[in-house]
Parts: sequence; C-alpha cells; structure tokens
Amino acid sequence: MPQTKAAGKEQAVERLHTMRHSAAHVLATAMLEYIPEAKLTIGPAIDDGFYYDFDLPRTLTPDDIEELSQRMQRIIGQDQQFAHSIMPVEEAKEFFRTQGQTYKVELIEDLEREAQIETVSIYQNGDFIDLCEGPHLESTGAVGAFKLLRTAGAYWRGDENRQQLQRVYGTAWQTEKDLRKYLKFLEEAEKRDHRRLGRELDLFSFTDEIGPGLVVWHAKGGHVRSVMEDYWRESHRAGGYEFVYTPHIGKANLWQTSGHLNWFAENMYAPVEIDEQQYYLKPMNCPFHIQVYKSRTRSYRDLPLRYTETGTVYRYERSGVLHGLLRVRGFTQDDAHLFCRPEQMDSELVRVLKFCLEILETYGFEDLQLELSTWKQGETSKYAGEAENWELAEAGLVKALDELDLTYKRMEGEAAFYGPKVDIKIVDVLGRPWQLSTIQFDFWLPQTFALEYIGEDGSPHRPFMIHRALYGSIERFFGILLEHYGGAFPVWLAPVQTVIIPIADRHNEYAQEVAAALSEADIRVEVDTRSERMNAKIRDAQLQKIPYMAVVGDREIEAGAVNVRVRTGENRGALPIAEFSAMVRDCAASRSDSV
Ligand SMILES: [Zn+2]
Ligand SMILES: [Zn+2]
Repeated sequence: MPQTKAAGKEQAVERLHTMRHSAAHVLATAMLEYIPEAKLTIGPAIDDGFYYDFDLPRTLTPDDIEELSQRMQRIIGQDQQFAHSIMPVEEAKEFFRTQGQTYKVELIEDLEREAQIETVSIYQNGDFIDLCEGPHLESTGAVGAFKLLRTAGAYWRGDENRQQLQRVYGTAWQTEKDLRKYLKFLEEAEKRDHRRLGRELDLFSFTDEIGPGLVVWHAKGGHVRSVMEDYWRESHRAGGYEFVYTPHIGKANLWQTSGHLNWFAENMYAPVEIDEQQYYLKPMNCPFHIQVYKSRTRSYRDLPLRYTETGTVYRYERSGVLHGLLRVRGFTQDDAHLFCRPEQMDSELVRVLKFCLEILETYGFEDLQLELSTWKQGETSKYAGEAENWELAEAGLVKALDELDLTYKRMEGEAAFYGPKVDIKIVDVLGRPWQLSTIQFDFWLPQTFALEYIGEDGSPHRPFMIHRALYGSIERFFGILLEHYGGAFPVWLAPVQTVIIPIADRHNEYAQEVAAALSEADIRVEVDTRSERMNAKIRDAQLQKIPYMAVVGDREIEAGAVNVRVRTGENRGALPIAEFSAMVRDCAASRSDSV
C-alpha cells in the first residue's frame, strides 16, 4: 500500500518541521531568559533545522551558545505547554511595545496593512509569548534531540540597509541517533565543501580585486573544465547539434522584445552606452540563438534545428546569497535551443531526454529525480501561447518520460508562464538533490520574435521552441561534481592523472623519461622531484587525490618498470611502462569512475 506509506512519511516530515519550529521558540525563550534586552524578529523551521534572528546588545560567543543550549535543555525538561490564543491587534501591539519587542510590532503593522487583520495568533510557553501562526507541538518536552550549530550575520527583512541581526542556527531531530547521523553528515559535507577543495586542490578562486561572485579558474580546475567541454563538444556533435557563438551584450531593444527587461530586470546589470544606444550584458543566450534562427527564411525541411553554445551570462545576485561556485554573478551555460515542427516534437523530446540522461550518467550521476512542471488547469489566461500547444507539449513530455520508463513527480501550476518543463535533479553521494538539467518549452519567445517556418503547404507556421541546459551552469556543475567525488575526480577528468615519484635524486632522470612516455600517450603527468622522503610524496599525492602514483627506484630502472599505487591506498606492484600507460589510458577512455 504505497500511498498509505507515502502519507505516513509526509506526516512524519510535517511533525519534524513543527518540532523544529517549536525548538526555535525554545531558543527564543532561552535567549530572553539569558539576555533580557534581546529583541526578537523571526524564527522559522528550515530544511534540517531552524534559526532565530535576534537584535542583541553584543556579539554572541561560543560560550553564549553553550549557555543557551543548556538553558534550552532545561526548558525542554520543564515540559512547558505551548498554548495558542488569539489577541486583538491593538492589544498585541501594546503588549509587544511594552516588552520592547519593536520588530514584532512592525510585523503586526505589516499584517494589518497587507491583510487587514483584526486579530493575531499568539503562542505561549512558560512566560514566553510570541507572535506566531503555529502550529506547535503540545509542549516543549516533545522537542527531541537538538544542537545549536552556528551563528551568522543577517539583516532585518534581508535588507542590507536595515538593522544587522545575529542569526542562531540549530538542528533538531526526533531521536539522539538521528541527530548524531545528521552531525556526521554535516562533517562529511564540510570535508567535501567545494570551496575548501577548490583551495586545497588549487582549482579556482575568487579575488577581491576582481569582485565577488566572479570566478577565476586556475590551471588545474581549467584542465578539468576543458575536458568537460571537450566531452560536451564531442557528444553534441554526435547528437546532431550545431555550434553557434554569440556576443556578450545586446541592445536594449532586444531585451525589451524578449521580455527580459520586464520580468528579469532585477537580475540584469545596468546598461552600458555605446553610440547613444543602451546595451545590456546578457543574462541568457536565448534571444541570440533566435537571431540565428531568424537570419534566413526557414523551411519545414530545415527542422529540427538544434543550436548549442557554451555561453557566458551575467546575472545580478545579492552579495549575501553568493556561495562559492553554486551561486555566482557570471557563469557559463551549456545552452541549447531546439526548434521543431509540431509533428517532430515527440521524437525530439525522447531524443533530448535520453541525451541528458546519458551524459549525466557518464559523470557518475545515476540517482536522479525528475519533475514535470505543468500549468495550473483552468487558469489558462495567465500563460503565453495557445492552450492547445500547452497540452501538446505536456503530452509530449509525458510520452517521452514514459517511453524511457522514468518515474517523475508532476508539479501542477509550477510551470513558468511561457511553457511546461522537465527538470532533472541528481542525487549526490551524500543524498543531496541538485537541480541540473532543464528541458523547457517556450511559447513566448517564438511569438514575440515572430518565428516562422514555411510548411509543406507553402504557408508560414510557428515552430516549437525548447530551451535545454544540461550542466546548467558549468561552474555550478563543476562545484557539485567536486563535492560528489570529494575532489577525487574520475581518471578521465583528473587534472593530474599520474605522479611519478623518484625515490632518490639519482632516479630523477628515469622519472622524467617515464613522464615523457606517458605524456606522449596523452596522460596528464607530473614528476615529484622534491627532496622529500618517498612516503611524504605518496601522502601528498593522496591528499591531492591523484589517481595513480608511479614510484621509481633502482629496481624499476633495471626492469624498465614503475611501481604502481592508486589513491585508495592499494599497491598494484611493478608494471612495465607500456603496460601501466595502457592501463591509465584505458581507464580514462572508458570514463569510468573507478581507478
Ligand atoms: Zn512559532
Ligand atoms: Zn534559453
């Protein structure tokens, strides 16, 4: 009875959410006990935990966090009931004002203005009273195992011009065992943090001189990227795509027609003026690919057309949300736009979906979650394009998903106004889902740019247009890949595939000869000629996650061989140079993720 099971799971998730929000109230209770001048703002439950934002007279120290934890534990031990009540607005404002809780007063005033409310919902536990919609657990004793994790700066209302607040993050779980498991997960995630690995493995960086959210790829990261791009090019050529190249800026008029200046303006940078015309940095490639389509009259015989480009786009993101490679201000999309006739749509969708899955699989992402976002039935006026085409497109997507035997979640009403889509999320080695690829219909751009092809009947028709990103952003994909593999890239991607380790200086010459032979065979190789001990060199190579270490000494020179170790610690013993070279080459060629 899978449905009952799913419903049960949903209930458990909801209860956990309620418990975490209740834990946030316990934290606020403890805070007011400990620092009575504290002003409270908001304290929601979030994924895996909760936070509360406070305006405090001083900066919290780790000792304060410890003290707050102990107080929270006591409050949980006291099993205070969460009592719900309704309070008239005026009374509530008066109450919070006399308590000095000015942020709560502001929240109530906003509710009054936006929703014309006359009463507010209040929860009380012990002496602590909070403005809150609920729901809550029956009492503080029902809060399970919790831990306060860290503090961070935050702004009231997320507005950099408003009061700076201190956010205290915590996590809460049903049992002590669940909590321990989660803390272990956090520790593992921390070890795999791509920002840390990027530094340790010398892959990329961000510098103050260039500016936040703008990444520079170092030689090693650049090498991985170039291999990713080579594979991208090779697979797209085989997949029937055509490569196009387009500029980084375009006239305001273009972005006006495309609609970006209407609905995407806050993510676009201020225009530059050239010859009294305004130009914008591109936040997307689509209008440019459309220009390629429109460069000549298209006949039904030309379709389908599949244009692709690794196009660098720039989008404004607030500095507070920038996060390593995962959220940046400039990135390169592996973008594609497909144009086809209605009757070609079904086969085109199967083809593009299969293409995406194959490529994700090559990168070692086999655990996928798919979502089909559709329009909201009955609200057709909110969407661009003909209702009939929306239905055709959705049916086509469903058919493609079914034909490939894929399970997916249907998200009604989640489609953008311009078309339904399928999103592909990968689940990484730590079980975290990441949104990567998108296959997105567009009924808006073909209409606003008046795209046409001449049909068999000699008259003009409108093509179907599909946006398709596979890596999404190359930067973000790389960051996720880095975390998924914990920096130990599969051999085909590894920036250095083999390091040659001479035991003593007198073995350096032979080491260089071996390196030359491997390099000749297209293997990315380094020689570690530092006058360190062999074991130190091996340890460093392992820290750099280099797949193969080839140790050379007197015996190897005599035998024309290398002594092979792999980064997992396994010792493969002596191999003739040619044999070792073939082994590394084969492994790289197979794009396998084992060494
Ligand atoms: Zn609450
Ligand atoms: Zn697009």
